[in-house]
Amino acid sequence: MDMIQEKLSSSQLMELEDKHGAHNYHPLPVVLAKGEGVHVWDVEGKHYFDFLSAYSAVNQGHCHPKIVKAMADQAGTLALTSRAFYNDSLGVYEKFMTEFFGFDKVLPMNTGAEAVETAIKLARKWAYEKKGIAENEAKIIVCENNFHGRTTTIISFSNDPDARKNFGPYTPGFIRIQYDDLSALENALKEENVAAFLVEPIQGEAGVYVPQEGYLSGALELCKKNNVLFIADEVQTGIARTGELLACDHENVKPDILILGKALSGGNYPVSAVLANDEIMMVIKPGQHGSTFGGNPVAAKVAIAALEVVRDEKLSENAMRLGELFRKEMNRIIESSDLVVKVRGKGLLNAIIVNDTPDSDTAWRLCLSLRDNGLLAKPTHGNIIRFAPPLVMTEEQLMECVAIIEKTITEFVK
Ligand SMILES: *Cc1c(COP(=O)(O)O)cnc(C)c1O
Repeated sequence: MDMIQEKLSSSQLMELEDKHGAHNYHPLPVVLAKGEGVHVWDVEGKHYFDFLSAYSAVNQGHCHPKIVKAMADQAGTLALTSRAFYNDSLGVYEKFMTEFFGFDKVLPMNTGAEAVETAIKLARKWAYEKKGIAENEAKIIVCENNFHGRTTTIISFSNDPDARKNFGPYTPGFIRIQYDDLSALENALKEENVAAFLVEPIQGEAGVYVPQEGYLSGALELCKKNNVLFIADEVQTGIARTGELLACDHENVKPDILILGKALSGGNYPVSAVLANDEIMMVIKPGQHGSTFGGNPVAAKVAIAALEVVRDEKLSENAMRLGELFRKEMNRIIESSDLVVKVRGKGLLNAIIVNDTPDSDTAWRLCLSLRDNGLLAKPTHGNIIRFAPPLVMTEEQLMECVAIIEKTITEFVK
């Protein structure tokens, strides 16, 4: 049987994944075959609005022609040299990136988790070589309910049992404190040998928890006072998602180390990055860190195009404006519904809280009904549904989506 030639149905394709793929995900039953802007289509040709954007990787919309062209042109010219040699794209990209985000240097990686690992290594090395912490003693403060990726070190400081259980032994050197709690941070900073504070400006995976205004700027101030690095993981919140280029921009916070991923490529290619100034970044010398694919020419061209789209199409402004409209509309729906109790978020990173226990299947079934009505979203942590459409959405399209959500909530039988 030649499966490349044969047109397989959605159920056949789901069966293939179930039979031959590891079961490390539990996807919503829909099999997508095509995407364009805010739209996706399944194998049978049914249309949906994408309201997840691949966890905020596709901020620029599916298959953005400018990004696809940059990728295809470079893929057909020179795809990979490794860092054993120079290539004619990387330096241009590095200049563009550092000017775009206002840092001295960038270190290119591929996935978000790799960039977080890079930031951790960088902070530790800085602590030993600049701050004078004794070797192997450096600690990094992290938050309860964090999500920073899936490597063994990163899951070592997670408190999500699914992410952790039976993956030990765990990497030591982390202190976990309550999120959105400056006095908890102040206390933790009293401990010896603290190198850095690693934080998500909004906790996305945990259920779109927006901290109180002043949390990020207060945290930065506390870190500065204690000579501790402020590391912002903006893999999900960055690149215009929350209505500013970075979520930290809402409080005029400039992190010491900035971590980017996901929408840095518009979802077209795995591209991540760590940005910092020389005082920090230059502690890493040749041979001390790297990645075969990190900074490859295709990634470089894709990321430049992806950021130009964000700038030229004013995606931050659009996310800010549509986000406010979206929450206003959700609050209107919530007023006349028992099913949803709350909407929260910033820009176009939002979540609704379903009126049921976290271990109920109500949010999951609501997402199935949304799917049937032509909108794709996924629960995160039980009774929370994240809503994060591509930022190229128009107001008219957003109102179409609001109508789908309203109809689904109104007709839903719990
Ligand atoms: C998705 C995510 C990561 C991990 O990125 P991967 O590309 O999946 O490794 C890290 N941090 C945050 C905040 C994320 O949302």
